[in-house]
Amino acid sequence: MTRILPEMTPENTPFWTGGARGELMITHCDACDAAIHPAQMVCPKCLSGTTARPARGTGTVLARTINRQQWSPDMIVPYALAVVELDGEPGVRITARVVDIDPEDVRIDDRVQVSFQQEGDVWLPLFKPLAG
Ligand SMILES: [Zn+2]
Repeated sequence: MTRILPEMTPENTPFWTGGARGELMITHCDACDAAIHPAQMVCPKCLSGTTARPARGTGTVLARTINRQQWSPDMIVPYALAVVELDGEPGVRITARVVDIDPEDVRIDDRVQVSFQQEGDVWLPLFKPLAG
């Protein structure tokens, strides 16, 4: 599948490559521990440095939409795009596709877990229904 890939920066490289290890990397402030997403080198709250660390990888669907527009010829539609609030990462919301489920069946408050799809140098986070 061809898609426009995110631009890699020193700040966001952990986020886009952590999937190689199965880890959803979220950046935190070294001083106040605020979760900062998208990642930044400096905490916007206290201007301290930041470090990326693995999130639990589970979360809850806050909102979802179904994309039926085929933006490129090899894109498979429809698919569900969800805003997911991550467990243990207050305020962090990730927008990603939800897979392994009929797009029509994705509901608000569904519990999901992260999964990854490699596209070149990037591991795109996806979500799938939480097992069990
Ligand atoms: Zn801070």
